[in-house]
Amino acid sequence: MFKSIRWTLQSWHAALLALALLGFGAASYFEISRARYKEIDAELEGAGNVLLAKLRRPPARLTTPPINRRPRPGNPPEFNGDGPGPGPGRPPRREDGPPGPDGGPPPRPEDQLGPDNQTSRAFVEREIEPPPGFVQRYSATTDEMPYFIVWREDGDIIKASPNTPAVIQHTKPADLVAPGRAHQRGPNRELVLVDAPGRHVLVGRSVQRDLDQLHRLVWIMSATGAGVLLVGLFGGWLVSRKAVRPIDAISATAESISASSLSGRIPVDNVPSELGKLAQVLNATFARLEGAFAQQTRFTADASHELRTPLSVIHSHAELALSRDRSASEYRQTLETCLKASGRMKGLVESLLLLARADAGGLKPEVARFNVRPVVDDCLNLVATLAKERGITIDTDLRPVDVEGDLTQVGQVITNLLTNAIRYNREGGSVRVWTGTDGKYALLSIADTGVGIADEHLPHVFDRFYRADAARSRKAGGNGLGLAICKSIVEAHHGTISVTSRLGEGSTFCVRIPLA
Ligand code: ADP
Repeated sequence: MFKSIRWTLQSWHAALLALALLGFGAASYFEISRARYKEIDAELEGAGNVLLAKLRRPPARLTTPPINRRPRPGNPPEFNGDGPGPGPGRPPRREDGPPGPDGGPPPRPEDQLGPDNQTSRAFVEREIEPPPGFVQRYSATTDEMPYFIVWREDGDIIKASPNTPAVIQHTKPADLVAPGRAHQRGPNRELVLVDAPGRHVLVGRSVQRDLDQLHRLVWIMSATGAGVLLVGLFGGWLVSRKAVRPIDAISATAESISASSLSGRIPVDNVPSELGKLAQVLNATFARLEGAFAQQTRFTADASHELRTPLSVIHSHAELALSRDRSASEYRQTLETCLKASGRMKGLVESLLLLARADAGGLKPEVARFNVRPVVDDCLNLVATLAKERGITIDTDLRPVDVEGDLTQVGQVITNLLTNAIRYNREGGSVRVWTGTDGKYALLSIADTGVGIADEHLPHVFDRFYRADAARSRKAGGNGLGLAICKSIVEAHHGTISVTSRLGEGSTFCVRIPLA
């Protein structure tokens, strides 16, 4: 069952469908999750950049101009670290300025602001908040609230939102993952940005809701995929059942056709085109088989019939001779009749054997090159007596022509045709024999002025045991196998034999055999 076409089709269909659905589902899932993470990362980056921009912005309200504001080349005393300074990406170092009173590193510019500096720093730190839109968007629950933390370049925390995970608050910026690339920490997505002086900003938020949505999507896609797979399998099962049904019908009909009922045919209507063609081929094969069986049956019946006649003659004459004592001449006459009948039987059996050999492909000519003209001469000598008996004149126009084949078999063909031309001729008629070439063939034609053959008999004269005029044939000693034998021999020589005839006027038989 599992080796059937239907199961093979079904399993391939299922495997391909499952593979296609899986591929489509996986591609969709990865594309959707990638897009979602891209969106989240862009939001985090936006918020991080806002925070960095606020760090860079100079204090809005400074009551006292900062001391030591006179910038020295290479050491700008700005808070933001932008503008002319030690160079982009390089945090200002204390070594860049004059040493402090304790001889240590130079003080940070904002440390030198005095009491006002406290105000400005407080102001700056108060301003350090992610954009309100970003916060509001995720403030449905405290779990989802975005968090942020800002470190100074030396690693001190400038500001951290209250919900920043403790583990991050205890992490040094140097231990954070590479800045500029968002990363996943548990259910949280985080992004670290660094400005030129080396201040770090980390913005993060829980992506649990997004993960849940993605999981839900996986479930929905799996359920939909399973549904589509089931529907697809069911559809495939229906289609394959419909496709295979005509095969079942063909098998059933073919099974019902046996030697005894070869007349059955597969109905070709409503059969799909490919199977319809198969059904037509099978029907043609059945027709040929039926014809061959009928021919074989007819052949056996004809052969039996032909054999029975001489056998009956032998049997009845022997019985009659033995019924009482006979004279020597009567016994002699009986034996002569039996001899004649057995001779007829012998000829018939030899013809049948030759045809059986031809059918089995055993009529292989012994190939030798020979000239047809002397062969025709020999055959004419053989039939000369018969022609003389019937007063038939034979005209010849024989040109030498070489063929390759079996001389004896070709001789048998010529003798058969000459015998027929004399037998089926009218008293005092004539026969004309011609040899020559016709293209690549040697041509032998034998034309007579005999009874001719009616059009309806012409296509059958080469069939076994076929006689156009059975009475005349029997009277002439024919058995209806002569032309069939001629055809088998000529075809074994890769040649052709044909006949043209007009009833009451005569017939012409033409034999073509490839030239040597
Ligand atoms: P048969 O032994 O009866 O002659 P053939 O096979 O030689 O058998 O011929 C088949 C039939 O073809 C003959 O019975 C005869 O009716 C017809 N036939 C053959 N040759 C000729 C011919 N030359 N003229 C007329 N009819 C012929």
